[in-house]
Amino acid sequence: MSIAIKEKESLLEGASLVAPSSANRVSHIPSRYNVKVQDESGQWIVYNSFSGAVGAIPKEKEAEILPLLEDGGQGSLSGEAKTLIERGFLIKQGTDELRRVALMKQRRQSAKDLHLILMPTEECNFRCVYCYESFARGAMKPGVRQGVKNLAARLVPKLEAMGVSWFGGEPLREMGIVEELSMSLINSCREHGVSYSANMTTNGYYLNAENLRKLLACEVRSFQITLDGCPEQHDAMRVLKGGGATFDRIWGNLKVARQIQERFSIKIRVNFNQQTLEQLSPFLSLLHSELKGDERFSLFFRPVGNWGGANDGNFQVCDKKPGEESTFEASRTAIRQGLRSDMVYPFLRPHGSVCYAANPKSFVIGADGTLYKCTVALENENNKVGCLLPDGTMDLNQDRYALWVTSDDSDDPVCQSCFFRPPCQGSACPLVRIESGKRPCPPEKKMIKKSLITTWENFKAFGKLGEVGTRISRD
Ligand code: SF4
Ligand code: SF4
Repeated sequence: MSIAIKEKESLLEGASLVAPSSANRVSHIPSRYNVKVQDESGQWIVYNSFSGAVGAIPKEKEAEILPLLEDGGQGSLSGEAKTLIERGFLIKQGTDELRRVALMKQRRQSAKDLHLILMPTEECNFRCVYCYESFARGAMKPGVRQGVKNLAARLVPKLEAMGVSWFGGEPLREMGIVEELSMSLINSCREHGVSYSANMTTNGYYLNAENLRKLLACEVRSFQITLDGCPEQHDAMRVLKGGGATFDRIWGNLKVARQIQERFSIKIRVNFNQQTLEQLSPFLSLLHSELKGDERFSLFFRPVGNWGGANDGNFQVCDKKPGEESTFEASRTAIRQGLRSDMVYPFLRPHGSVCYAANPKSFVIGADGTLYKCTVALENENNKVGCLLPDGTMDLNQDRYALWVTSDDSDDPVCQSCFFRPPCQGSACPLVRIESGKRPCPPEKKMIKKSLITTWENFKAFGKLGEVGTRISRD
């Protein structure tokens, strides 16, 4: 079953309900994956987590649509009811939705794609106060680079798509390795008609015009760059390895990127604490002054936490729940100030909240050839699932590997009956389930009302629910 999701229209506006014909008595019932919430104005926003459809009910249509969402309808339905059927809010009576979600997971797990998270170096030119990395390994060794190329040569003929995420350390410290591996992987994919895409998490310090052009030639078209608020706030958190400010250089690079007339997207990540929130408005005004109207730029927010680094406890962090709440409120503030903040919807789409660590065909390849599943717990023994050999063979510890790809909803009856199961599948963070045995419910589910209001406000302001096809780390 393929699901069409039209994002560019107000999903429920502009249609009318036609009385059912007695000739056709097929019954439609509400999907178990429907959610409806009211925003501050009283408008209903509706969401179906199986199809990923999001829409708002116009006031004048409430009397027609709300009963349909409660009770379904009979006969040959048209108008509003037809729209509800097309978007998955109403389903044919007898549809086994639970089994369809199980099938959805099976299809994800057997998809012919490969996702490699490559660390061309584990060294970094920054020493951010909250960083959890150890910088123990430098540039990727020649034997590992050969292993990556051979791995691709062996697997690409069996694939439909390959995605690469450049990660580090700071990947742009080793631009030559990024180019060398990109060209090899792209050529393998071209030879076999396999689609190739790439993104990069970078601190942005070396993302000057020359490097940006080289990266675009390497098909790296999506970037995540962090700015932690106004210059003085950012510079207190994100400092050079030997000490020194970083905001001006990154900001200069963003301004230059704006002048380059090519297709790419830059997602500005804002790690925030209470101080950042107090200065949010001037920071957003600064961003707006340079980036307004350029839809290649967007921003999203993450609360600063004690992430396991050497400085934990020595800087201001957000408590978990207020921090998660502020994530959505900060996005709404940005949208009101004319800045796209569309990174909530990708987590609401089918499979959207499943962490890449749960994907059987996703691997992190460290600079020394160690294979990991999770990009956060790099020193955790369970996360060291194997080793990439120079001939491209993956020497896997099957028990450790299995931990990551099977710690999901399979044996969890609460997950199996959860309204958010299609996006999450119990796998929003396998690390949490492995370490604590607890369900890793993501903030987009726990705060579904805020998620939907933020998503809808972004749609109203910018005509898009959110970026599709983007995989970003929640961390
Ligand atoms: S969501 Fe959890 S498992 Fe996935 S990368 Fe983050 S910490 Fe690791
Ligand atoms: S982990 Fe939480 S959100 Fe995810 S499927 Fe299970 S109960 Fe639902």
